[in-house]
Amino acid sequence: MKHWIHRLKGYLNGTLTIDNSFKYSFICYVAACIHLIITVTFFFLDIAPVYYYNFLSTVLYMYMAIVLVPQEKYIHIFRISVTEIILHSVIFTLLLGWQWGYMNYMIALVPISFYLSLTLPQMRRHLLSPIVSGILICICFVATRAICMHIAPMYQNVASEGFMVAGYCLNSATCFAIILFFSSLFSIEIRQMQRSLMHENETLDEIASHDPLTKLLNRRSMEFHLAQVMDVAKKTGAQFSLIMADIDDFKKVNDNYGHDVGDQVLVHVANLLKSQLRGNDYVCRWGGEEMLLLISNNGKVAAQVAERCRQTLETSPITTKDGDKLTVTMTFGVTGYIPGFNINKLIKITDENLYRGKRNGKNQVVS
Ligand code: GH3
Ligand code: MG
Ligand code: MG
Repeated sequence: MKHWIHRLKGYLNGTLTIDNSFKYSFICYVAACIHLIITVTFFFLDIAPVYYYNFLSTVLYMYMAIVLVPQEKYIHIFRISVTEIILHSVIFTLLLGWQWGYMNYMIALVPISFYLSLTLPQMRRHLLSPIVSGILICICFVATRAICMHIAPMYQNVASEGFMVAGYCLNSATCFAIILFFSSLFSIEIRQMQRSLMHENETLDEIASHDPLTKLLNRRSMEFHLAQVMDVAKKTGAQFSLIMADIDDFKKVNDNYGHDVGDQVLVHVANLLKSQLRGNDYVCRWGGEEMLLLISNNGKVAAQVAERCRQTLETSPITTKDGDKLTVTMTFGVTGYIPGFNINKLIKITDENLYRGKRNGKNQVVS
């Protein structure tokens, strides 16, 4: 019991996903209980066909819960249950009369069959099954009503008027409870789907816009920011600058310490650059060990930012997994926005500044 309460709480607050195994076991056990209650009631009213039928239905639902659910034969359970409920409603109405309210179960079955078919992977693609069930239910409902107008029920006056009204109320209340239960389930599941879709979208966004190793923006998303900032600069004259930074002698790091340590250095450099930026600034992994920084300020400020990055990196050794201390440096090329120049031209100038720094001895800022 505690286990079920714990699961129920999990389903309601969204920490647990309602799986088909839980759902179909629950449906089968509840259906078995309802049929058992009807069996006992009609045993005391001494109406043999009704309690035999219900006893067999109880066994059938128990069988489905114990045997078919573990085998994940949900589609069989769905079809057997729909057939059983239709038969149950029609037979009981013909035997006992319309006033017992057994036909209400058919009405409840229509939305439920749509809901269940939606949650079954085999049936998700087509709506045929629930539509066919719905039409069949409608035909049975109308035909049974017509028959009841012409043929008197086999078991008339088996109970007092009050008992029959109580039976009608109980059947109607059970139908409402069933519809309420499935509507709640539907609402919980839709919310869960929305949550997981949102989560997946966020993950996909993250994958599409970031470099998997350094977690910096990738080149594609940086190009988007560059286009945006260029647009604003053209319209308003707002300043921005580019810094192209390249690790010095990175090949040697790979050659001397291995590719894994090289990767570790890239992550270290990326985190360091990120930590030096303000809210409106961006840094991306532009190429292998080249990072491009977009600074929302003029070239002078950007050169100061680059110098700050250079000095911090120079004084922040990395401890490799073998315990070695390793210091890397970077060379920075800086360019402020020049009106009339497009973004490719600005990047080219920034790159030229960077390579000037490389030629002049590395570990420096050139603007
Ligand atoms: P320089 O000072 O002139 O920049 O010298 P460098 O050795 O850094 O020269 P270069 O830019 O030619 O070398 C870049 C190296 O970066 C080559 C490549 O193997 C390495 N590299 C690129 N991407 C990665 C990566 O993701 N992980 C690792 N470990 N190495 C990478
Ligand atoms: Mg390099
Ligand atoms: Mg390079």
